[in-house]
Amino acid sequence: MFHRILIANRGEIACRIARTCKRLGVQYVAVYSDADSAAAHLAGAVKTVCLGGSVASESYLNADKLLAAARQTDCDAIHPGYGFLSENSDFAASVEAAGLAFIGPTPMTISALGDKARAKALMRDAGVPVVPGCDEASDDAVLIEQQIRAITLPVLLKPSAGGGGKGMQIIDRLDGLLPAIESAIRVARNSFGDGRMIVERYIEQPRHIEVQIFGDGRGEVVHLFERECSLQRRHQKVLEEAPAPHLPDEARARLLSAAVQGAKSLNYRNAGTFEFIVDRDFQCYFLEVNTRLQVEHPVTEEITGQDLVEWQLRVAAGERLPLAQGEIVCKGHAIEARIYAEDPAHDFRPAPGAVAKVRWPSALRVDAGLLQAGEVPPFYDPMIAKMIASGDQRAAAMSALKNGLQNTTLLGVTTNIGYLLRVLNDDNVQAGLMHTRYLDEQKALQTPNSRSAAAAVAATLELPSWSEPASAWAIGSRCGPSDRKTLDSQALLGRLEISVNQTPVSAGLQWIDQDGVCVLYDGEEYQVQRDKDRLGGWVRGMRWEALQTAVGWWLLVSGDHYAVLRSEQNGPVTGGSAENTGAPMAGVITSMKVREGDRVRPGDVLAVIEAMKMEHPIVADREGTVQQLRFKHGDSVREGDVLIDLSYEDTVENTPMMSDSRAAPSIDSAG
Ligand code: ADP
Repeated sequence: MFHRILIANRGEIACRIARTCKRLGVQYVAVYSDADSAAAHLAGAVKTVCLGGSVASESYLNADKLLAAARQTDCDAIHPGYGFLSENSDFAASVEAAGLAFIGPTPMTISALGDKARAKALMRDAGVPVVPGCDEASDDAVLIEQQIRAITLPVLLKPSAGGGGKGMQIIDRLDGLLPAIESAIRVARNSFGDGRMIVERYIEQPRHIEVQIFGDGRGEVVHLFERECSLQRRHQKVLEEAPAPHLPDEARARLLSAAVQGAKSLNYRNAGTFEFIVDRDFQCYFLEVNTRLQVEHPVTEEITGQDLVEWQLRVAAGERLPLAQGEIVCKGHAIEARIYAEDPAHDFRPAPGAVAKVRWPSALRVDAGLLQAGEVPPFYDPMIAKMIASGDQRAAAMSALKNGLQNTTLLGVTTNIGYLLRVLNDDNVQAGLMHTRYLDEQKALQTPNSRSAAAAVAATLELPSWSEPASAWAIGSRCGPSDRKTLDSQALLGRLEISVNQTPVSAGLQWIDQDGVCVLYDGEEYQVQRDKDRLGGWVRGMRWEALQTAVGWWLLVSGDHYAVLRSEQNGPVTGGSAENTGAPMAGVITSMKVREGDRVRPGDVLAVIEAMKMEHPIVADREGTVQQLRFKHGDSVREGDVLIDLSYEDTVENTPMMSDSRAAPSIDSAG
């Protein structure tokens, strides 16, 4: 086994690999970009190496920096995780050329399978069923047109060098064919630097089922069963489960043996995933091989009880496969949800930012890249974590996952948790009746159904402590001092005004007692139950939780995230540190108004921060000179971060009260 490996990745997968290393007593080196200097994946590393840069091309995608880091820290091997350089055959080759082990397939296998057309041809030769279509990829629009006319519509045009479902086009009629092909070639060229397209039959309403295989590179190959990944949005997986529901044993056996046969033909080494689409008659067609650990590998681990990262390390270290085929058993059912900082209501646009509070449910497996308040940087994939539930039966796993998502606290950024809950509550999803376009067709699931309940909860957040009902009567003139016993019992105690996601909300206060509040909003009554010990509770069967900020609250209702502004919050907040240049709350700098050396006077705007969907100017309160700008336009800041060092007329030296904890040396040794 290796003595020390370098984990060439970040986020949840770097944390995941680290966990196995710790268990096996393998030391690991963690790498990080400037944006990740406080990231969770650095914990427990024997050494951490700063790659510099923030964008991936300057950090996690920079092969030279990664190799230098591995050499500098005396590593025996590199684990690439997934994404970034994990399927880059040149990187794998240079790792091996540097005398280190690449924890993955051989560079030759990666290169052969990286091209869809070549992979398809190899698999057809190995006797694996492939989607009917043309063998050769081409970027000749006229030739592609002839190929399309020769097979039955609908047809799928796929970039041969593509990935992530990008650039694929369904052709279902012959008019306007040539311009459609030309446009598809252009898109592929722009996205992948390669315009070659594959023409294949478009399978209607297919399922995506994939097989996890492992090879030792010496001819031995086993499978670890299949995963159903049909719940996708625009070809990106949303929920994955194992085993695949409603798959007849005979079809499962065909699928598993096709994958093993394909892998044997390649003398496959390490972990691989054979992806298939399965039509309504359970015909299976090979799609591609992913030559790395998959995001969704945990569901396989749950049903087999195996640690796939351990398998990867053992095989890469030259050991035999840990188990023979007959020893690998499938037990129960597991399902995984991918939790992203993204906004399903706005076309799933990424929503990176500062996470103010995180609490994962303790009853479930959560593979997270964020364990406490911190950043989701804008530079990388915005996946925060994966939540994995298992049970004897599918229904038990589904309901455990729903519970886990309901009981997750993630405040400060918009996430897809509410969307995942709606998907899990969908009748067809519950029945296991799905295909790869199902979620794209169910647009309504993208809209939160908790909006009115959230407005009702928001209206109650300004009320004083509910455990002291007497004080509730003094909530100010807005509430009115009426005595309900002597007046109309239906009369409101008062009105509550607040703003939710920048929309004004006005609700009537019906009654208050120890456990909660009843408000009238939009003609409906909402009983907002509140826990004794924290700012959270239940409303109409949905869990809610809030976190106070400088200007209002972050509010979570059934996984949907809202920004609530206090009613008197008409203007921005300023200040935060002794120098009054501290960030009042976490946010993003939208403007730096001064330069180093500038003289400022009281009232001058120094910078503007956007937080909770509002702009907050940072204003000078004294006369002084700008010594140093600690951040620039576009930077994320945490609450209390000093933005600007000012020196004042009456002080000789300015000593900032809060130090910037981000600066990190190139190599730090950790215990
Ligand atoms: P990528 O590498 O871009 O992810 P894949 O070939 O793996 O591309 O396909 C991604 C998804 O596109 C599949 O999960 C499936 O939903 C859909 N797909 C691919 N090929 C076909 C096909 N011939 N017919 C129908 N759907 C397909």
